[in-house]
Amino acid sequence: MKIVILGAGGMGSRFGLMLKKAGKDVTLLDGWDKNIEAIREHGIRANYNGEEVQVDIDIYPIDDVDPDLKADLLIVFTKAMQLEDAIQATRSIVTDQTKVLCLMNGIGYDDILRKYFDDEQIVLGNTMWTAGLEGPGRPKLFGNGYVNLLNLGKSEEATAAAKDIVALLDEVGLNGVYEKEIFYLIYKKVCVNATMNGLCTILECNMADLGDAQASHDLINQLVKEVVDVANAEGVEMDLDEMIDHVGECFNRETIGGHFPSMYQDLITNNRLTEIDYINGAVAQKGEKLNVPTPYNQFLTSLVHTKEQLLGAK
Ligand code: NAD
Repeated sequence: MKIVILGAGGMGSRFGLMLKKAGKDVTLLDGWDKNIEAIREHGIRANYNGEEVQVDIDIYPIDDVDPDLKADLLIVFTKAMQLEDAIQATRSIVTDQTKVLCLMNGIGYDDILRKYFDDEQIVLGNTMWTAGLEGPGRPKLFGNGYVNLLNLGKSEEATAAAKDIVALLDEVGLNGVYEKEIFYLIYKKVCVNATMNGLCTILECNMADLGDAQASHDLINQLVKEVVDVANAEGVEMDLDEMIDHVGECFNRETIGGHFPSMYQDLITNNRLTEIDYINGAVAQKGEKLNVPTPYNQFLTSLVHTKEQLLGAK
């Protein structure tokens, strides 16, 4: 099986490294020149749970892909705002048989992918694996995780193909789970991302400090309520109290509370644009379509965009 990973940042490198180390046929496509140069020169050099792990792996710029390259499985791991351009630039690698796996944070990727692929090709999910970058070609990969996924296509062939992807992920240690309630799990993760990401970025704090500030709790509860209302209006059943408790787990200093969410790292640490439009912004957009008020999500989206502009993020 030819596996192509579109986007070789932290997550693309993690999946690329784990697949390649297990002997799979993997090629990376990326749009960041320094990253491509570094990976071509010395492969991926990962800080892998504190040890240096190196793996040689093919990588092409997305605007200069090997014309003979065809993907059986395309895993998309760009940032959300890069996804459509990247898919368009790499159309030559896709055939009718290609399956596309999307595990990116946020909501609305089913709508984006349906513009370019048939339902039968699309596999949607989310992942609890994490990754960071210490520099070009140098991912920092700590901890454990798993991947939840489900095929959008209704055919037996689409189900079998998704289950094959689960088996592949299991085989290489990425821990696949075939999950019928995928939209519930995607919205559950959005409850965390729609609160921790934007608020910690605007307030420049980690999650435990945010939780200690009692005044943040009403804000957090309102944001979660809007996500839950939108999910319920879309037919994805969610319980508000359960989601508020779930988000509250982020405040625990003994576990993950000391962590600065990825949006903080993108904007505050690296002066990069954020995925806010695909998290709070997407909640607000869906709310508008479904007649569900989402003023808190809209406001937070505008605040983050304002901060991006003030900081001159790119
Ligand atoms: P990333 O920013 O590391 O990489 C995404 C793209 O941006 C890659 O093409 C990369 O080469 C490029 N890039 C990275 N740093 C750059 C820089 N300084 N200058 C120019 N280009 C740069 O993103 P990621 O963390 O791999 O996330 C990919 C997707 O997966 C996102 O949708 C994210 O929300 C989701 N996700 C991330 C994690 C995580 O822990 N990182 C966990 C779950 C889901």
